Amino acid sequence: MSLLVVGSVAFDAIETPFGKTDKIIGGAATYISLSSSYFTKKVNLVAVVGEDFPASDIQLLESHGVNTEGLQIKKGEKSFFWSGRYHNDMNTRDTLVTELNVLGTFDPIVPEAYQNCDYLMLGNLSPKVQSTVIGRLKKRPKLVVMDTMNFWMDIAMADLNETLTMVDVLSINDEEARQLSKEYSLVKAAKKIMEMGPKYLIIKKGEHGALLFHKNQVFFAPALPLEEVFDPTGAGDTFAGGFIGYLASTNDISFDNMKRAIIYGSAMASFCVEKFGTERIVNLSEKELRARVKQFVDLVQFEVTI
Ligand code: AMP
Repeated sequence: MSLLVVGSVAFDAIETPFGKTDKIIGGAATYISLSSSYFTKKVNLVAVVGEDFPASDIQLLESHGVNTEGLQIKKGEKSFFWSGRYHNDMNTRDTLVTELNVLGTFDPIVPEAYQNCDYLMLGNLSPKVQSTVIGRLKKRPKLVVMDTMNFWMDIAMADLNETLTMVDVLSINDEEARQLSKEYSLVKAAKKIMEMGPKYLIIKKGEHGALLFHKNQVFFAPALPLEEVFDPTGAGDTFAGGFIGYLASTNDISFDNMKRAIIYGSAMASFCVEKFGTERIVNLSEKELRARVKQFVDLVQFEVTI
């Protein structure tokens, strides 16, 4: 099934206790597209970059089968730039720089060939742009998944509230869930957030896994205990790409299948953090992915008689 991905395509500069990168390819839609490309070959991208964005990075996306017809290149303008520094725990980070540049005036044009997409992934982006994309689709997709972050809660809460009423699944981290709901307990937070619009809520907890809420049901997926976490940037987006990519490839949006999708998303994210930026997720083999999913299954499988 076809998947439409909207989000930032960016330059990132990252600092972790293990090292530092100069401007490298990043952005929510980059990670989502690359990650979902391991599940479906019908990934259609809507995003914007400046003239400074290297053609080789666009080719990288295309080499994964990502359709870049909807990627606008703005002459004479600069690409979105984000810089972050991770703390020693690698679970928390400070944003050092957010330069919206082309994102500040982004008008998301949906090419005709992208209409009738079955799945829509709204990656981290201004909530106004996210809702504009939904409005520009002639047919509502079977499932709309959305990501957001504290940055948009701080500066565009009214728009965010509106966009939340239009989506099926929201995927955010624990800190963002607390900020959005003003509740410390994640169970209370989930209840409040699901009243704001999304019928499903994913709360990512970094190295402590992820929770999926729907009505009164809850599912937990661990994160794989890794010896080395090099760079968590993009892990959430890579997770989202695996999640929606798996759903699009199986075309089954039942709660049970969403549980499997959460495991596939977690497996993809576990690769992402092993190297800087997108390095680890540009060259994965089918065999590696299968072995990783098996590790997740083994991690939580046990027998008990109750
Ligand atoms: P994650 O680590 O999954 O939260 O995603 C990190 C990615 O999000 C980086 O590659 C950034 O380029 C991108 N990003 C950071 N801030 C924003 C923002 N305000 N809007 C859109 N994308 C962002």
